[in-house]
Amino acid sequence: MANYLKRPNGTEDVTPKQIHRWKTVETVVRETAEQFGFSEIRIPTFEATELFQRSVGETTDVVQKEMYSVIAKETAFTLRPEGTAGTIRAMLQNGMLAEALPQKVFYLLSCFRHERPQAGRLREFHQFGVEMAGSASPYADAEIILLAKTVLNTLGLQNIALYINSIGCPTCRAQYYAALREYFASYIGELCETCQGRMERNPMRILDCKSPICKKIAEGAPCILDYLCEDCKAHFSALQGILDDLKIAYTVNPNIVRGLDYYTKTVFEFVTTDIGAQGTVCGGGRYDGLISLMGGQDVPALGFGMGLERLILTMEQQGCAFMETNRCNVYLAPMDEAARPMAMRLAMQLREAGVRAEYDLANRNFKAQMKYADKLGTDYLIVLGSNELAEQSAKLKNMRTGEQRPIRLDEHFVADYTELSLSDLLSSGDPNLL
Ligand code: ATP
Ligand code: MG
Repeated sequence: MANYLKRPNGTEDVTPKQIHRWKTVETVVRETAEQFGFSEIRIPTFEATELFQRSVGETTDVVQKEMYSVIAKETAFTLRPEGTAGTIRAMLQNGMLAEALPQKVFYLLSCFRHERPQAGRLREFHQFGVEMAGSASPYADAEIILLAKTVLNTLGLQNIALYINSIGCPTCRAQYYAALREYFASYIGELCETCQGRMERNPMRILDCKSPICKKIAEGAPCILDYLCEDCKAHFSALQGILDDLKIAYTVNPNIVRGLDYYTKTVFEFVTTDIGAQGTVCGGGRYDGLISLMGGQDVPALGFGMGLERLILTMEQQGCAFMETNRCNVYLAPMDEAARPMAMRLAMQLREAGVRAEYDLANRNFKAQMKYADKLGTDYLIVLGSNELAEQSAKLKNMRTGEQRPIRLDEHFVADYTELSLSDLLSSGDPNLL
């Protein structure tokens, strides 16, 4: 097959057969975020390259290796590798931080990173994310952790570990960086080239390096928790108290430093072991310095990003239920040309009443139509022929039970059907019936 006929490496198609998985996840994250009082925000797919360099950070893998950047008409743009930078930019540009705080927004968007594609790691992937600006309280940290956890629970996921850590603020980090530099200095020749460059500018980045050698060396590095200032220590222990109180299980894991530069204090990850090495389904934390770094006022903020592909992989792995979306409710089978206008008219009436209705559009014979209706998995079938037209009545067949009932084809048609469905609905208890 010619190359241009293949999708680019690390991208995916979602076909109609798979779309119900996405709809399930999208519905749950939207409803949960709204329950928590977050409103949806939509931002551009690309931004000025400098926005990401400044906010995500020059020493991160994302900026150093993974960005899709172009010079278009002499301006440098980058396809967003994450949602936070664009969202904060939008909050500032639209004056949202001058309104009542905290501002609470969520988004569902595609992100682009030039990485080595593998299961759970794509070049175009999708994130559900939330950002809250204007609260320094540890209750806000707990609130977004609870939001993420509620999403995971509502999707039916299990065995997802929550790891939390504090990576301090610029005050405590000054001392910690010094300790890290001293520690890594004796391994400088063994560190990868990127990490050697990180020594001076941001030695904490080395702890997040994916190279096995750097990882091994990092195991013996000094621990950030031993260097926290009083303020950061108090914040972290308050957060743990709140999580304990809510009975949210967590493990303090000092190795979690997160891949982006803007984090301060709390960082957290939700991790599953069910989908192999790329098990972090959600990562987030606090970034109190980001808004002022981007030219705004000193407004504390926090948020998380959840990878939807990894969520769906885990749901499949764990056998979680996905909602059924586009099943046909009523299939109208015209037996001849004379019945076709009637089929179309009835379908129209049914759709107006909120019923998913279809009829033959391929001039199939009776047998082929039955086969097609069966493939659609329709709830009900109505066969329409000259007899039915003459008598203004037809049989409505319940495809699940095989039961048939007469139904009038006059102006009461829809009333008959919906009444019937309602009683079916009540007796079967299946909310998907209509
Ligand atoms: P990782 O350590 O796995 O590279 P990260 O720290 O780069 O993750 P974040 O920038 O925090 O990830 O993004 C938030 C979430 O987005 C991740 O927890 C993950 O679920 C998802 N994610 C990140 N990169 C990818 C990718 N290339 N493909 C699919 N999902 C991704
Ligand atoms: Mg990454």
